[in-house]
Amino acid sequence: MENAKNINKLTRVVLGLAIVLCMIATVVVISHWGNRTKPVTTTPECKSVVAVENGDTLSKILMAQGLKHGDVEKIAAELKKKAGITTLRAKRDRFEFLRNSDNAPVNKIVMIPSPWRQIELTCDDNGKWHCDTVDVERDIHAVYRSGKIKDGDSFYLAGQRAGIPAGVLADVYDLLAFEMDFERDVRAGQHFSVLYEENYSNGAKVDNGHVLAVSFDALRGNVKMYRFKKSDGTIGYYDENGNGAIKSLKRTPINNAKVTSSFSTKRHHPVLGFTRAHKGVDFRAPTGTPIPAAGAGRVIARSFNRGHGNFVRIRHNGTFETLYAHMSKFAKGVNVGTTVRQGQIIGYAGSTGLATGPHLHYEVIKNGTHVNPLTVKLPAISNLDNNQKQKFIEYRKILDSGIEQLANNPKWFIQL
Ligand SMILES: [Zn+2]
Repeated sequence: MENAKNINKLTRVVLGLAIVLCMIATVVVISHWGNRTKPVTTTPECKSVVAVENGDTLSKILMAQGLKHGDVEKIAAELKKKAGITTLRAKRDRFEFLRNSDNAPVNKIVMIPSPWRQIELTCDDNGKWHCDTVDVERDIHAVYRSGKIKDGDSFYLAGQRAGIPAGVLADVYDLLAFEMDFERDVRAGQHFSVLYEENYSNGAKVDNGHVLAVSFDALRGNVKMYRFKKSDGTIGYYDENGNGAIKSLKRTPINNAKVTSSFSTKRHHPVLGFTRAHKGVDFRAPTGTPIPAAGAGRVIARSFNRGHGNFVRIRHNGTFETLYAHMSKFAKGVNVGTTVRQGQIIGYAGSTGLATGPHLHYEVIKNGTHVNPLTVKLPAISNLDNNQKQKFIEYRKILDSGIEQLANNPKWFIQL
């Protein structure tokens, strides 16, 4: 009975694949041609596995396997030269040591820094070590999950209920934060959907990959984003018409942070006790919450004043600057003149200056005037030229029909 059910399920998946594959063939060629790699082969006999722990060093691990000091030096040099590896990461890196028999010396070492990359070190007859990096073949399934916001829900809760893994949800937040204010734009009844990658190796799921498409019925209208690889290999997210979806600034630098005070030209100041303009937006954030830069730019102030406490001001371009106040501390290496990436941590939330409790006070300054971060019109980082736009639209149409199939058949997936 169970078998029959499984076969039935398999048939559905295969049938689904056949239909979707026809439509998706072009998509596969566009987006994943470069990812095909050779399978990894390892000999099964006499293998010992060592996971890197705190305090481990390469020489400690290798010498525990009976390797001599001279070999350790040669192996370290090869790892640095061929694989760019100079340090070990505890709880992440793994080693496999292979021998021809139990008491034989190690003749092959496999270092595994990620499920998708293996570094093979082999010793030749002359005692010379050789290093090869092998990419593990991944079998990518695009899966589709959709859900609906219920009364009193947050997007996070609804996303979890829809079966979207936490890491994928965080990526979706990052994407939608350019377009939406999760505090104000989320209402009961709104639908959302995500198409994302699941990576398999030898039939077992290993981890989740990229978000390929996302859709959310926001108050301002349906927000849609698609991941697309341009002919030059650069990857970006675009709306359904091929306009860059990644804006120069994020409206909410900290994901999923509740707005505790909005932008206004007049408000009663909780500490000063009289009415004055609130030139930014306050986000609830416990002391120590990392604060990412809302956009790429250059730090033009990293200072303290009575009102803002510890604050950082970033100049993004000729038009926009952002300011982050009440920090408990600044991030290491962030100084006046430092260039920061979008999303780079610049400091940590706190309650320095005039603040009743820990929060992030975030300001956006456009051409010298304070504007509401949650509503100001923001320029997109990159747009597609006409040729790429046409390619994108073709890709997007195929993907959309794939999504339609998946929406009607939730157990199906697209084989990429
Ligand atoms: Zn404030």
